[in-house]
Amino acid sequence: MPNYQAHLLLGFISFVLVLSVFSSLNFTFSGTVIAVCFVACLLASVFPDIDQKNSKGYRAFRATAIILISAWITAVSYKNLALMFLLLGLWIVSSKRILLLIKPKHRGIMHSYKICLVFSLSVAFISLTAIGSSAPGIFAFFGYVSHKLSDKLFN
Ligand SMILES: [Zn+2]
Repeated sequence: MPNYQAHLLLGFISFVLVLSVFSSLNFTFSGTVIAVCFVACLLASVFPDIDQKNSKGYRAFRATAIILISAWITAVSYKNLALMFLLLGLWIVSSKRILLLIKPKHRGIMHSYKICLVFSLSVAFISLTAIGSSAPGIFAFFGYVSHKLSDKLFN
């Protein structure tokens, strides 16, 4: 199984290939759009392994979820400090187990073309709204596909 660095390398190669295809078709992008395409492609090339317990992606997801849910607990219980500390304590102690319960199985749904499409279309929609170009969605799609192919080739 390739590690995240190998996935990033293949994501970078995908970025160069897709950019070459766009260039040969005489498409031009601004520097901002190219930068966002680069980030989208490389993020997509490592994103599927968010379903792997020890991956950097899963650990980043877990840290984000713990912080956001702790913020929510604080927001709904700050008027009663004893209750707030009790809820925060319970959440912090049990968060790792709770998050593992809802984690999809490795190479399950996160490695499917359905999620690949949902991810790419989401990137396309967000980038269209934010920078006026949906091209990052296309780069995200090929970054995601590079992950799936490399998992298959180097199994
Ligand atoms: Zn994978």
